[in-house]
Amino acid sequence: MTFNKHEWQSIANTYKEQLINETTRLISFKTVYDPSTITKDQPFGQANAKCLQHMLDMARQDGFSVTNYNHYAGTIEYGTADEIVGVACHLDVVDADSTQWNQDPFVATIKDNIIYGRGSNDSKGPTIAAYLALKILADLNLSLSKSIHIILGCNEESGMACMDYYLSHTTNIPSTGFVSDCTFPVNFGEHGSAVLTLTLPKPSYIDSFSSFLHKHIISGEAQAHVVAIDQDLTDAFAFYAKTHHIQQKINDNQSSLTIIGKSAHGSRPYQSINATYHLLNFLFCYFNDEANIQLIKCFEQTNGINLNIHHASYRYGSLSIAIIGASIKDDNLIISLDCRYPSHLDIHTLYKTINKQILSINPQVTLTLDDHSDGFFVDPNNQLVKTLEAIYQDHYDDHGTFSKVSPGDTYARKFKGRLVGFGPTTSDHLKLKHVGQAHQPNEGMAIDTLLKAVAIYCDALYQLAK
Ligand SMILES: [Zn+2]
Repeated sequence: MTFNKHEWQSIANTYKEQLINETTRLISFKTVYDPSTITKDQPFGQANAKCLQHMLDMARQDGFSVTNYNHYAGTIEYGTADEIVGVACHLDVVDADSTQWNQDPFVATIKDNIIYGRGSNDSKGPTIAAYLALKILADLNLSLSKSIHIILGCNEESGMACMDYYLSHTTNIPSTGFVSDCTFPVNFGEHGSAVLTLTLPKPSYIDSFSSFLHKHIISGEAQAHVVAIDQDLTDAFAFYAKTHHIQQKINDNQSSLTIIGKSAHGSRPYQSINATYHLLNFLFCYFNDEANIQLIKCFEQTNGINLNIHHASYRYGSLSIAIIGASIKDDNLIISLDCRYPSHLDIHTLYKTINKQILSINPQVTLTLDDHSDGFFVDPNNQLVKTLEAIYQDHYDDHGTFSKVSPGDTYARKFKGRLVGFGPTTSDHLKLKHVGQAHQPNEGMAIDTLLKAVAIYCDALYQLAK
């Protein structure tokens, strides 16, 4: 039995209502990591456990076998063959600052054929697309030689402990498959990601400093209280903002300075206007703080060139390092950094190089490596990559977008090359200016992109498992 892309698409289109309804339902679970509701059976909080239970209940009602890995993760299983094709998806989301949204982030809204809501793109819409693809294969009763498992994790955005738990508790690890949490065509590798912190003595002219802090998100707004804001400082601040094309404001009682930039994911610093960098840069320069001017210069470019860690490779991709945010704690200024490093580089060696450079500028600064996760790389000519790439090219009739190494981190790294990233976001979707991307305010996903993903995932699962 074979289906061409038009046939897959017309089958997928008949599931449109279900796609919208189930995505809407998933968005209504506020699956943000919530330490206040953690229990033994809710390892990442109540909403994450409930959302997983909802997915597993739905799948069971649809006739699938399911396994709940103690609410860390779950699997929806089809077939009894030992060899497994896996699709790894996540149900948790990053938090949303509702003041920056046009509507409640946890109530899905549809406008102009785009579904908005936290998780619509990352990764609840794609999770439902993958699930419906499996459901279609089951509804068609196609004969397959491999089993298919949809793997649902609940802690992708804050450490991936869900996948560690699943991988150490299952005897059914897939031998091939994909992660539906990326861009098309195929991500055949991922950069490593690291969180580092710079700690330096609080400059005397800064009373307080804050920017919205979430691991891996470059803050779009930063605020500082400084000792005294006079006319000269006010003029200089306005001048700095104008020459750097950023927004600034000084509060009514002349006590705080704010820079409004643009937040972006730490893996894409080129999409951000880094409010923290600009506010620190302005203050250090205005107050002639020479050592810190040299320090902040290291982060003017995000390719690591001023830290001696610049690395660009046609094969493994390019390194980036960016300031995420900053705060004051115990009379120290704390600056958080996000580094994305090509998978063949060693983070501990990079750390030593950065530390040496920082100390040569300002010996009072300490650098810590708080957390890191290595990436992966598979040969782009291997069978899995070639198969998935050809399916994408066929469905989108696009031979001009290339598979690549991604600077982002997904579950794919946990499967050591057995799974690769495969859609469903497209490069065209990433260019939509009026739609928030993953982790951003007003996150949205085109319903047609999700429907196309359903058809592509049907085709891919069938080809991998038949
Ligand atoms: Zn994701």
